[in-house]
Amino acid sequence: MEKILGDSARKIFVTGGAGFIGSHVVDLLVAQGYQVCAYDNLSNGRREFIAPHLGKPNFKFVEADILDMDLLLEKIKGHDLVWHLAANTDIIGGAANPRRDLNDCAGGTFNVMEAMRISGIKRLLFSSTGAVYGELCHDTPVSESAGPLLPVSAYAAGKIGSEAFISAFCHLYGMQAWIFRFGNVVGGRMTHGVIYDFIHKLKANPSGLLIKGDGRQEKNYFLVEECIDGMAWAFRNISMEGDKPCDIFNLGTTTISKVLDIAAMIKEEMGLPGAEIRIEGTKRAWPGDQPRVHITVERMRKLGWEARHTSDEAVRIAARRLLKLEQAGTASNQNG
Ligand code: NAD
Repeated sequence: MEKILGDSARKIFVTGGAGFIGSHVVDLLVAQGYQVCAYDNLSNGRREFIAPHLGKPNFKFVEADILDMDLLLEKIKGHDLVWHLAANTDIIGGAANPRRDLNDCAGGTFNVMEAMRISGIKRLLFSSTGAVYGELCHDTPVSESAGPLLPVSAYAAGKIGSEAFISAFCHLYGMQAWIFRFGNVVGGRMTHGVIYDFIHKLKANPSGLLIKGDGRQEKNYFLVEECIDGMAWAFRNISMEGDKPCDIFNLGTTTISKVLDIAAMIKEEMGLPGAEIRIEGTKRAWPGDQPRVHITVERMRKLGWEARHTSDEAVRIAARRLLKLEQAGTASNQNG
């Protein structure tokens, strides 16, 4: 099997490596023999997600903050690629505490770039989000060139700030970056999001499910392993050089899932056909909410990569995995 990053990178530094996506990245890289350092402050990540790798010769875990510049600098040295996933992912909480997105996302990304510059690391993979498009993607699918980018959440503002610093560092200091604006990434180790919420609400009250918002929400969902595959594919196949040392790619599926269909699928998977669905609220379920997110992934498709599963398939698979893991009482399943 082809190694996901090929042979041009051997020592990979994964920020947010104990999180949902990060722990899947770690699983794959460690299994393929890369030297991996997961750097995570465990603010949202879980030690159990990376527990299977502790003690392996090609894996190291550092429990620390990317805002701790001295430690970050010490630990990042000697790596040849940074897979930067650490960020505050509590989007709802951003309205009450926007400084967290300024610090953990924009400030944290600045630190990562600065630590890379000082230690001579040239290449970065970065997880941005379709949330940067704000209202632009409410009704029409948007491409990477859509603008102006006027975010409606502190989370998205932090990502735009991150993208901006990444671009500046690449142009100033001979670095290269692949920036990905994800749709919703789903899988078995999710710790938040609509699938996670519906399952937990239905467990607490099997007779009914309250959907916040106006019931017209629709977004793009894709599986965590496809997200990782798309990022790695771009790293292997799209070179960043000359006048274009960094670039942006929307990543997800060409399809979307509607919130009422997600609720129906989860009822079915949980064997609760009689659970009554109620809708309560207005267009935005919370300040900063983006009820409808449409991104076009045409650019990646034309370049040669596309997700295998549709959005609805991804939702159903993720719900099954989450239910199975919760039933088994473990979150460290390799296919999580
Ligand atoms: P996650 O919360 O599980 O992972 C983020 C990890 O970063 C956590 O383990 C957390 O402990 C860690 N972290 C946060 N602040 C840190 C800090 N200051 N220092 C060190 N570690 C810190 O979320 P995820 O879903 O795995 O997301 C990974 C990345 O992908 C994030 O940057 C997120 O914004 C981005 N993203 C995710 C999705 C999605 O649908 N899951 C969509 C778009 C973008």
